[in-house]
Amino acid sequence: MNSVNSEKLKTILSKHGHSLTMPRITVFNALINASEPKTITELAAEVNDIDKVSVYRTLHMFSEIGIVHRVWNGFKSKIELSEEFSPHHHHFTCVKCGTVTTLKSDKLETSLHEMEVDLDFELTQHSVELSGYCANCKENKTGQLTG
Ligand SMILES: [Zn+2]
Ligand SMILES: [Zn+2]
Repeated sequence: MNSVNSEKLKTILSKHGHSLTMPRITVFNALINASEPKTITELAAEVNDIDKVSVYRTLHMFSEIGIVHRVWNGFKSKIELSEEFSPHHHHFTCVKCGTVTTLKSDKLETSLHEMEVDLDFELTQHSVELSGYCANCKENKTGQLTG
């Protein structure tokens, strides 16, 4: 973990009355190293040197104080670092297998900005939910409907 992130993590934690402990650093590092959002179960399996209950508790606390946020797919969710730690982006979520693809294009941001200017509206935040079928599931979706 780089020192900028570790300072930021420490600041957010202490602002909410929490201290920077080893388990919290370990969970945070697992999130930093994740290339895509992960489920709680996946994260708990990765940091197997900490008991699952602590991982769940840490993630719950991280979510309450804005260190992580949830990427929803129906009633299920995956977890990733909030925009405090990772650059702003959006996701495509597959409704069949739950794969989450991070969108790296900034065309969406550009068009939002254009609309902002056109409508003379000051946009302070936005979230866009995009769901459908990933490349693998696209082929098999009719099979799913009949099966
Ligand atoms: Zn899929
Ligand atoms: Zn955006």
